[in-house]
Amino acid sequence: MSDSEIELHPVVSPFREVITYHRKETCNNCGSLNEIQRTDSMDNIIHECDTKCTCCGFRDHWVHGFFESMIDEYDACEKYQENV
Ligand SMILES: [Zn+2]
Repeated sequence: MSDSEIELHPVVSPFREVITYHRKETCNNCGSLNEIQRTDSMDNIIHECDTKCTCCGFRDHWVHGFFESMIDEYDACEKYQENV
């Protein structure tokens, strides 16, 4: 009887990229709760939607993880990260 010489190493890629996305449920102007108004979804996954803040009334458009208002340098929404 011998101890196993095989060690199992989990395969972790050192090249895994992490992207920061915008949470569509939060306002990019004040960070409060957004109301999601019109959605374009496929397979129950929302790819695109119009949002309106329940606090300040800020309207935005969210596409594939990002608010269009980021172009105008709004950056108050909550973020989440996902590995690619
Ligand atoms: Zn707001």
